[in-house]
Amino acid sequence: MTNKIIDLRSDTVTLPTPAMRQAIAEAELGDDVWREDPTVNRLEAMAAEKLGKEAGLLTASGTMSNLVALLTHCQRGAEVLVGDEAHIFHYEVAGAAALGGLELRTIPNDSGGRLLPKDVEEAIRLPDIHHPPTGLICLENTHNRCAGAVLGEADMEAVAQVARRWGIPVHLDGARIFNAAVALGVPAADLVRHADSVAFSLCKGLACPVGSLLCGSREFIAQARKYRKMVGGGMRQAGIIAAAGVVALDNMIDRLQEDHDNARLLAQGLADLPSLRLDPASGQSNMVSLQVEGMPAVEFHGRLGQAGVLVTYMGGQRLRLVTHYGIDRADIEEAIQRVRAAASPST
Ligand SMILES: *Cc1c(COP(=O)(O)O)cnc(C)c1O
Repeated sequence: MTNKIIDLRSDTVTLPTPAMRQAIAEAELGDDVWREDPTVNRLEAMAAEKLGKEAGLLTASGTMSNLVALLTHCQRGAEVLVGDEAHIFHYEVAGAAALGGLELRTIPNDSGGRLLPKDVEEAIRLPDIHHPPTGLICLENTHNRCAGAVLGEADMEAVAQVARRWGIPVHLDGARIFNAAVALGVPAADLVRHADSVAFSLCKGLACPVGSLLCGSREFIAQARKYRKMVGGGMRQAGIIAAAGVVALDNMIDRLQEDHDNARLLAQGLADLPSLRLDPASGQSNMVSLQVEGMPAVEFHGRLGQAGVLVTYMGGQRLRLVTHYGIDRADIEEAIQRVRAAASPST
């Protein structure tokens, strides 16, 4: 144990399970652009069913799912409302603007990753000749930059009610939607029923090597399929990817609870340190986010690296630690000891 590197940078570092590797090797394949890959068709149907939507679409990444969703929902020149901490705003290379001619307008996220319905309502454009039309409202659950905060069904419904009143669709960036569902103990389909479209990731806590799914109505997904092709996401024998996804949806959702238990243990183990201040949502799902006090966060990040605990520097004084498949309780206990030692160098 003593020299083991404990990698808490992200749940994207997860490697496929032995069952996934076997399923990949044995996958039945065809040309998915022609809709002839049975494994992709199966995964898309499973994903749609799990989320209570009519249809699903396999894409190469979460970024591609979100981009395709925005292109499908909106005409060029429309305005898309997103949280000011949203992944779509921070980490998707402004693809909506560069490739879709869409304007992203931010609304404050609270520390729980929520948007206040009143802020959303105030940002909706009136039909004035000067204004772009408001084309879409985006939510995120769990919320990546808000320490993995979990939005409840009521939080999502409150925003969806405003959207419905104005006839504006809602897209959910649910990269970790199954983390949210497991944390709340509700079926994912219940949690997302106020969203018109939902994107989720296979390659994060679900431990697949590649892939994401976009789900929505049959008509929406038929159009999204065309946009996926436009952005180069029509993949041929994509059953190689989908085979791992089928294993993930069957076997990897319930175990996310273990990651949440580990994140809570980690948060509890660091809570009393005067030099670290935990963000309030830490431990709600599989993340712990903290503010370093008394030394530059980059320096503390370096110390942790030397101690064999890899974490992500988030800018400012913030660091983020993520639990995932491949990290067990003993790793977390060890990580707590190493972080505590790095935070109190005099002892
Ligand atoms: C990771 C992530 C994405 C993007 O997924 P990629 O597969 O990395 O492109 C989108 N939204 C959220 C909230 C994420 O955490």
